[in-house]
Amino acid sequence: MKILLRKITKTPLDFEVKSDEIIFKGYLEYHSGKLILLKAKLNGLLRKSCDICAEEFDLLVDEDVEFFISDGIYKDDNSVDLDVVESLDESVNIEEILASEIELIKSDYHSCENCK
Ligand SMILES: [Zn+2]
Repeated sequence: MKILLRKITKTPLDFEVKSDEIIFKGYLEYHSGKLILLKAKLNGLLRKSCDICAEEFDLLVDEDVEFFISDGIYKDDNSVDLDVVESLDESVNIEEILASEIELIKSDYHSCENCK
């Protein structure tokens, strides 16, 4: 699901994509300047190995995701601390964002029930 950034307006554009395990559901909305707001939820179970005993277990994922996508290189003029991802092809690929969010969760420290 690839969306052209210039097609995103103040009217929230809903999206929903799924990986094998995770549902990624939310919306894109024009913010200001070159910035698009992405607000979404990640839900599902992620197969992961425990960082202590290395056993595989299902990690319950229930996370809010919120950041801005910049259409082109982002210059922080106002020195406001925003979470910005730059898009260099004038579009946003929802599956790619989901994949990187999943990688991010997997790279976090998690332990299984037995090791808690
Ligand atoms: Zn464990």
